[in-house]
Amino acid sequence: MPHTISDTVARGMCIGCGTCSVATDGAIPLVLTRRGLYSAALDGVTEQDLERASRVCPFSDDAPDEDELGAPTPEGNALPLDPRLGHHGRVLAGRHRSDDYLLGSSSGGLTSWLLDQLLRRELVDAVIHVGRADADDALFQYTITTTSSGVTAQRKSQYYPTTLRDVLDVARRDGRRYALVGVPCFIKAARQLCREDDRLRESILFFVGLVCGHMKSRFFAESLAWQVGVPPEHLAAVDFRVKNPARASSDYDFAATARGDGVVQRRTRALVGGNWGHGAFQPEACNFCDDVFAETADVVFGDAWLPQYAADWRGTNIVVTRNPVVDEILSAGAASGDIELEPLTVDEAARSQAGGLRHRRDGLAVRLADDLAAGLSVPVKRVRPDASAVDANRLALVRQRRRMSLMSLDWFASARAQHDLAVYVRPMSAAIARYRRLEVGGLLTGLLTKLRPRRR
Ligand SMILES: Cc1cc2nc3c(=O)[nH]c(=O)nc-3n(C[C@H](O)[C@H](O)[C@H](O)COP(=O)(O)OP(=O)(O)OC[C@H]3O[C@@H](n4cnc5c(N)ncnc54)[C@H](O)[C@@H]3O)c2cc1C
Repeated sequence: MPHTISDTVARGMCIGCGTCSVATDGAIPLVLTRRGLYSAALDGVTEQDLERASRVCPFSDDAPDEDELGAPTPEGNALPLDPRLGHHGRVLAGRHRSDDYLLGSSSGGLTSWLLDQLLRRELVDAVIHVGRADADDALFQYTITTTSSGVTAQRKSQYYPTTLRDVLDVARRDGRRYALVGVPCFIKAARQLCREDDRLRESILFFVGLVCGHMKSRFFAESLAWQVGVPPEHLAAVDFRVKNPARASSDYDFAATARGDGVVQRRTRALVGGNWGHGAFQPEACNFCDDVFAETADVVFGDAWLPQYAADWRGTNIVVTRNPVVDEILSAGAASGDIELEPLTVDEAARSQAGGLRHRRDGLAVRLADDLAAGLSVPVKRVRPDASAVDANRLALVRQRRRMSLMSLDWFASARAQHDLAVYVRPMSAAIARYRRLEVGGLLTGLLTKLRPRRR
C-alpha cells in the first residue's frame, strides 16, 4: 500500500509545510500540536481533497521524489548528479567580505546577499523567507520581504517550525515574482505545489535552499531559553546563532530576551539539547528525509563545517549551484569584491555534512527497516530499508538518537505543564550520557579493528 498524506499525519510525521492546505484552498487546516510542531488536520476532509493534498505532501508516495522533481531549470537538470549533493554546478565555500555584516548572519551571509542581489537586479519583486513573527503566539514565521533593508533585517537561521500556508496563499494571488527560501522538504513541497498550481509556478522564480540536518520543534527555542533563565511564558525573542570573535564559528552562543527585560546569552554547546548530534526536539518527519542539500532548489547554502574554515569565527558558507543565473550573480559579486568564493570538491562538500548524511543514509535505512518490521507504514525513500546497513554499535546509536528526539518532545511538554525545567533536563541528560557511552564504544571498536593484526 502506498504511504499517503493520511499515513504521514497519522504517524506524526507531518512537517507542517502547509502545501496541502494551499492545494485544497484551505480545506485542510493546520494545527499546533502538543509537541510544538505544526501538523495538517485531516478530520472530515473529503477523499478528493485528500488526493489533491497527497500529491503535494513531501512525505507521501503520491508525490514525486527529489530525483523526479530534479532541479528547477533544464540547465540545472543537465548538470552532473551526485547521490549526496544532487545536481551540482559550482561547488563553493565563501562568505561576505564585511566582518560587520557577517556578525548579523548565521554563516557566511551569502544567502541574504544573494536574495538582496535578486531584488536589486529586479529579477524578483519579493522574497519569501522566515523572519521574526509579528504576533505574540510565535517567535518566527514565514514572511514576505520586498526591500534590501528588510532582507538584511531578517537574517540568521531560525531553527523553529513555520508553515508556508499563508505566504503561498498570498503569492498565488498577487502576481508578484518571488524567490523562496526553505529547508529541503519545504522546497520540495513548494516545487510539487508549483507542478499543480499554474499561478504559483509563474510566481516563484527562484528556490533558495538551506542545507538541513533536521528541523526543530518550538521546544528547542524554549528549552534553551529556559536554561539561560527565561521561562517560556516570559520569552520574547531568541537568537540561535550569536557569533563570538574569540571562538570558532561552530562554537556559537544562544541568546534569549525576556519580555520587558534584557538579553541573556550562553554558549549553545553548554546547554542540554544544544548539540545537534543529540537530535533534541527533532520532528519525526526528519527521520524520513533523504535530502540534505535541498536537491530540488536552484542553489543551496549551508555551513562549511570543514577543518580549514571551522576555526574562523566569521562563518563560511558551503554553496552548491544549479542555475546559471545564480552562477553569474556569484561571479559578479566575487569580481567586485563584495564576496569571497573558492572552489570545493564534491567530496569536500559532502564531508562538511558528514553527520547529516549519515543520519539520512545509514540511519534512514535502519529506521525504515525498524518501522517495517513493526508493521508501520513508511514512505518509499531513495534509501533501501536495511537494519544491517551499520554495525551493532552504530545501530544502537541510531536507535538511541531516535528515542531522544521523541522523548525530548514529551519530556519538555511535561516540563512546561508542570512549570519545572528539571522534568526535561534530568531524563534528557541521562539519555545523552547513554548516547555518549555508545559513541565512545563505537570509537573504541573502530580503533581496535584497525589495530588488530591482519591474518596472512
Ligand atoms: C532547520 C535548519 C537546519 C539546518 N541544518 C544545517 C546543517 O545541518 N548543516 C548546515 O551546514 N547548515 C544547516 N542549516 C543552514 C544554516 O544554519 C544557515 O542557514 C545557512 O548556512 C545560511 O547561512 P547564511 O549566513 O548564508 O544566512 P543568513 O545571511 O543569515 O540568512 C539566512 C536566510 O535564511 C532565511 N531563513 C532562516 N531560517 C529559515 C527557515 N527555517 N526557513 C526558511 N528560511 C529561513 C532567513 O530569513 C534569511 O533570509 C540549517 C538551517 C535550518 C533553518
